[in-house]
Amino acid sequence: MDRRIIQQRMKRKRRQLFMRKVMRLVSCVAATVLVLTLLFNFVISPLAGKISGKGGGAVQEVKAETVKEDETHADRVPVKNSGSTSKAGVMTVGWQEDEGGRWYQNADGTFYAGGMAEIDGSTYCFDENGYMQTGWVTIDGVDYMFNNNGVYDPNQHKKMVALTFDDGPGQYTMELLNCLEENDARATFFMQGINAQQYPDEIKKMKEIGCELGNHSYDHPQLPTLSPDQVKEQFEKTSSIIEDACGSRPTVARTPFGLQDEDILSYIGMPCFMWNIDTLDWKTKDADNTYNVTMDNVSDGDIVLMHDIHEPSVQASLRIIPALVEQGYKLVTVSELARAKGVTLEAGKSYTDFCDSTVAALLGSSSSDSSSDEEYSEEDSSYDSSEDSSEDVSVDSSSYEDSSEDAVVEE
Ligand code: ZN
Repeated sequence: MDRRIIQQRMKRKRRQLFMRKVMRLVSCVAATVLVLTLLFNFVISPLAGKISGKGGGAVQEVKAETVKEDETHADRVPVKNSGSTSKAGVMTVGWQEDEGGRWYQNADGTFYAGGMAEIDGSTYCFDENGYMQTGWVTIDGVDYMFNNNGVYDPNQHKKMVALTFDDGPGQYTMELLNCLEENDARATFFMQGINAQQYPDEIKKMKEIGCELGNHSYDHPQLPTLSPDQVKEQFEKTSSIIEDACGSRPTVARTPFGLQDEDILSYIGMPCFMWNIDTLDWKTKDADNTYNVTMDNVSDGDIVLMHDIHEPSVQASLRIIPALVEQGYKLVTVSELARAKGVTLEAGKSYTDFCDSTVAALLGSSSSDSSSDEEYSEEDSSYDSSEDSSEDVSVDSSSYEDSSEDAVVEE
């Protein structure tokens, strides 16, 4: 009996000892695993990443004064996927040059890439591979000029012009849109609703390539002869047609023949745009003349008036667009032009151009406390004094007939 009890106790004791051993072993293994995991995660993996160059992640855009740290320690040369180990030895701090261009080596082994950086008091710009850039560089829609030495020149601003096309869309509009797209250019289309409903693909394409959708009434009436409700209907109907075509409503407008007053502008309820270069393309129907008038008169901030329903106008534009780009102009929409010049567009106001003097006046008048009524009357009177009103009527008429200067014949 006693022996059995003793044997049972010894058995229990052995089991306990065994269990303790097992427990100790388990905790020992667990601790080892934990240590190894920590070691791998925080020491070995980052090291391996640095060595293989995979730890750096995607190139990020950096703000001025910040440094893009490339973690590729084995290969500091700013060339994507470069296996060039011969240049890995370049450790001299400062400007470096290779067949890819100039780049800047920092003391900590990093180099600048993907943004602007200040070095010795000057601002430089580096591309994604870390090479210094020269000429015009666009960052977040703003153009910056870096001279031949790569130094940012804050005094240089890219010339901009807004080409505007009225009365369409038409059968030549797609060709014009293709040309704009090829030249990375944009324009504003002030469309008649009656034509817009026939060319939904053109309207989709306008939106797709960043052109601005403009409302030019439904069927080009003389707005001063209409009732307020009729004016509103002309624009409302057209906005709906354009929305049906592309999903977006126009946010800018132009009145037929440029005929407008304070009341009409308020009924339209959008910023309205006149022009300061009138090509008279609708009248001459001469591509050479339209080209020459534009190229001879164009300057920064201009709004150019043409009509994409006329073939010679589109033929002229196919030459004007690349020629302006070649001359260093950025072709933008009317809203982009306003934004670039610091002008906040307001519904019920009319704009003629965004040249420096006009912008100064606009900014001056909006910052002062003068009433909006005063602004309207100033603008309206300036139209009246600069252009004969009967000329205004004929100027924008796509269907003008040569019989009389004052005649306006509807399409
Ligand atoms: Zn028109």
